[in-house]
Amino acid sequence: MLSALIFDVDGTLAETEDLHRRAFNRAFAALGLTWRWDAALYADLLTVMGGKERLAHYIETRRPDEAAALHALAPEIHARKTAAYSDLVTEGGLPLRPGIGRLIGEARAAGIRLAVATTTSRPNVERLLAANFPPGAEPFDVIAAGDEADRKKPAPDVFLLALAGLGIPASEAVAFEDSAAGISSARAAGLPVLATRSRYTDSHRLDGAFSAVSDLGEPGQPHRHIAGLEWPGGVVDLAGLIRWHEALDDQGTAFQAMGTSR
Ligand SMILES: [Mg+2]
Repeated sequence: MLSALIFDVDGTLAETEDLHRRAFNRAFAALGLTWRWDAALYADLLTVMGGKERLAHYIETRRPDEAAALHALAPEIHARKTAAYSDLVTEGGLPLRPGIGRLIGEARAAGIRLAVATTTSRPNVERLLAANFPPGAEPFDVIAAGDEADRKKPAPDVFLLALAGLGIPASEAVAFEDSAAGISSARAAGLPVLATRSRYTDSHRLDGAFSAVSDLGEPGQPHRHIAGLEWPGGVVDLAGLIRWHEALDDQGTAFQAMGTSR
């Protein structure tokens, strides 16, 4: 029985990654640091999950001569980056990706519960939700975020935390991801994964997802199918997810992930 949907945030709910990059650059500028991260560099850095971890990786690999001083400054950089991210969302908004709002609405109407499993910090999640849902709407029953999990993706910890919060086994949920590390994390937690390709994960292989698509799609705005399960009309909807999940239950076996590629 399908009882919950669990979503990654960055790149899955919204194309947040460029705002994170610009927020880091604002923090660097505010602290008098001379470098800036361009889109190509940030795409490389995104292989490291979690903003704090990403910054530490950058310092280790690109600023080794200043590493001690920069590691000491890192908490301040990250705090300013989180504030700058909130400002950027307030200034420019941050729309949900195609089909996200629709699928969330379908799930809530059907009594399917919703959770978030993300390596990003909780304030960033709350800012995104505040920009897209009316006050008090609280679309997600459970939010597992940032440092609440011991290990970042691709470890399964944050998805296991979301499942624990929902109080259900992995066999009752489907995960939504946009990155290779995220798919690995969800799969390691025992979850089937539907993958949408995002701007910054354009080069990622989406192996391990039972279905890979460009986005969830909207009626009249079909998505592009990439691999695995196909969706009538180019739209991922709750009815289709429930049908797929029931077929999985009927087989009485663990799901067989499709080998997918670009
Ligand atoms: Mg992501």
